[in-house]
Amino acid sequence: MPYLDHAGSTLPSKTQLEELAKLQTQLILANPHSHHSTAIKTQQIVSSARHRILRYFNTTADDYFVVFTNNTTHALKIVAENFNFGHRTQEGVVSEISAVLKGGSSNFAYFNDSHHSVVGLRHVVLGKVDAISCVNEDVVKEECIPKVEKSLFVFTAMSNFCGKKYDLNLIEKLQNKGWSVCVDAAALVSGTRLDLTAHRPNFVAFSFYKIFGYPTGIGALLVRKDSSKSIEKTSFAGGTVQSVDEMTMHFVLRDFERAYEEGTINSYGIAQLQKGFEEIERCGGMQAIRAHTYDLRSKAVQILQSKTHPNGKKVVEIYSQPHIQVSPETQGAIVAFNLVRPDNGYYGYTEVEKMCAIFGIELRTGCFCNIGACKKYLGITSEMIKENISKGKRCGDEIDLINGRPTGAVRISFGRMSTEQDIEVLKQMIDTCFVSSEKVFSPSLQSLKIDPFLPTVVNLFSFPIKSVGSVAKSSYELTPRGFKHDREFLVVKDDVTLNLKMHPELCRLTATIVNDEELHIQTFDQNDNLVIPMSLSLKENDAKVVCKKTIATLDCGDKVGQWLENALDMTNCRLLRVAGESKKNFVNDSPFLLINEASVYMLARHINMDVQDILTRFRSNIVVRGLPPFIEDTAKRLSIENLEFEVVDKCTRCEMICVDPMTGEKDPSLLLALRDYRNKQKITFGIYIRQSNFEPGQFVEAGSAVRFFTD
Ligand SMILES: *Cc1c(COP(=O)(O)O)cnc(C)c1O
Repeated sequence: MPYLDHAGSTLPSKTQLEELAKLQTQLILANPHSHHSTAIKTQQIVSSARHRILRYFNTTADDYFVVFTNNTTHALKIVAENFNFGHRTQEGVVSEISAVLKGGSSNFAYFNDSHHSVVGLRHVVLGKVDAISCVNEDVVKEECIPKVEKSLFVFTAMSNFCGKKYDLNLIEKLQNKGWSVCVDAAALVSGTRLDLTAHRPNFVAFSFYKIFGYPTGIGALLVRKDSSKSIEKTSFAGGTVQSVDEMTMHFVLRDFERAYEEGTINSYGIAQLQKGFEEIERCGGMQAIRAHTYDLRSKAVQILQSKTHPNGKKVVEIYSQPHIQVSPETQGAIVAFNLVRPDNGYYGYTEVEKMCAIFGIELRTGCFCNIGACKKYLGITSEMIKENISKGKRCGDEIDLINGRPTGAVRISFGRMSTEQDIEVLKQMIDTCFVSSEKVFSPSLQSLKIDPFLPTVVNLFSFPIKSVGSVAKSSYELTPRGFKHDREFLVVKDDVTLNLKMHPELCRLTATIVNDEELHIQTFDQNDNLVIPMSLSLKENDAKVVCKKTIATLDCGDKVGQWLENALDMTNCRLLRVAGESKKNFVNDSPFLLINEASVYMLARHINMDVQDILTRFRSNIVVRGLPPFIEDTAKRLSIENLEFEVVDKCTRCEMICVDPMTGEKDPSLLLALRDYRNKQKITFGIYIRQSNFEPGQFVEAGSAVRFFTD
């Protein structure tokens, strides 16, 4: 599996996990605030971890404090919340962000290429500062830095967008003009060792999972001892005070590190850090990892740049500093890019991500929590951001192109276990899915009109167990939430809902409700089946209410759980059912998904696949026949006999349709065919519909006439 998201989080290696497991079986820790021997042992482990961390950064406890935090974000926030900006010299709050550095007292500044965790700090310091600046690197040249007092610069050491490493010599130049510098080292530490003897920032924030993958949920704030006075804690919490009186305002904080570590620290996680540092040593140290990953990045860039369409146009647009400036000192192992169509339009990153999923490539898309870099490299303006939000664009959604312009990018990033093979798979994916070929598959629909066709319902499916297969039936009773009993049950493992994406083996089961009385679950090979009376779960003595998506559920009991464990070859499975008279169900989207059999045929013929197989993969509720392929896309509403439905949305498809339910194997051709067909639009298949004239006691039956309307 090519994992290309090391900038998101690197992964622990197998040896590392084995070592951790060994450590874990011997480790018994207690609350370090207590005084018994296990507590003292815990304190010692924590203290030795602080020293180990300082050694890694080439410094000692003489120079820096180590404050344990939850992550980088938490560490940055501690600095911003407690930094002593002195007294405000101007009235009111800052309402504008300056693009240059301001002189004087009480300034807060950061690079435009900053993580949202840095940018968000401006709201923490608001009211305490006179100026907030968001600057380009070239503004921070020695001669342009104004003299300041009591001011904080949060310095991105490496861009998590494109891997650009900022010149750490600027830290000293800023300090010479009076700035306190807090380095956001989260991205840098993933592939570079920060040397705190060579560079001496006042504060350093980072997370350990970025260095060695495990444990998560621990970061640190390193504070230079001679600048510990520039942050001033004005509150306290458990574990941070030496003396306190609950009836007066009196409190005395503990020593520096403990004063900032509020509550009980993650001692087990801290104990595990040594295994991470050992892992880095096993790989020959961070210097070797840096060389290895830089080399892979160079190869990847070379390959991506060489990709051209048959018409000679480049396929990949890379976002990076100018290549002549690139060296291991100035560039980390990240490549941000977008893919370009032969006609110069863009492929959306969501489409790229979907194709990657088929090839098993794991990477990151979007803006990676760094809107400043995204704007800079993609040419997005503040006005466009405003316009995009009005068009419904939200962080992390699938809107990847607006007016043909990308709203984000694709990011690959390398780590110590990355190989050339990973790049090879990426190359194959781009060749197969994005380098244009002569093959065309897009029947023109313009001439077709929907009105003259009167299709019928051919198949009806309800899925009593979410994500599990189904058996077609000829009639279903309607409820306001879809067919009666649709997604009334769900399978959980260790209390987490199983879904098809993570557990394709779920489609090896089929579930159907017989006569409203029994739920029948069958394995695909029909070797084993289970019959559960619909009355069972409600009567079960040990039934318990568990909340899933705020839906109260009842557990169907041990026997059913064990049967599922056997059938799915998994441990700790339970079958849950919506509690009470099924007022709710586990349907994610609209109550019904309708697909057109002709569209299925088109795809089947194009890729030589079995129609029935494709039908199963699209998991629809209603299949209609007698309509030209893909014309359902233009419908706004429809009727089935006297039942009326409105079209809510198109159903966006992902790599799930590529999984063979029998074998669990992925074959990309179905999604590729659909993608070819959709050409420049979202990869959708089928439409979501909702009934608009519901009354109790209505049924939908196979053979019913369907009418589509386009208004
Ligand atoms: C990952 C990252 C962060 C945030 O780290 P958390 O562990 O999520 O707090 C901040 N800045 C940069 C540059 C990063 O890469």
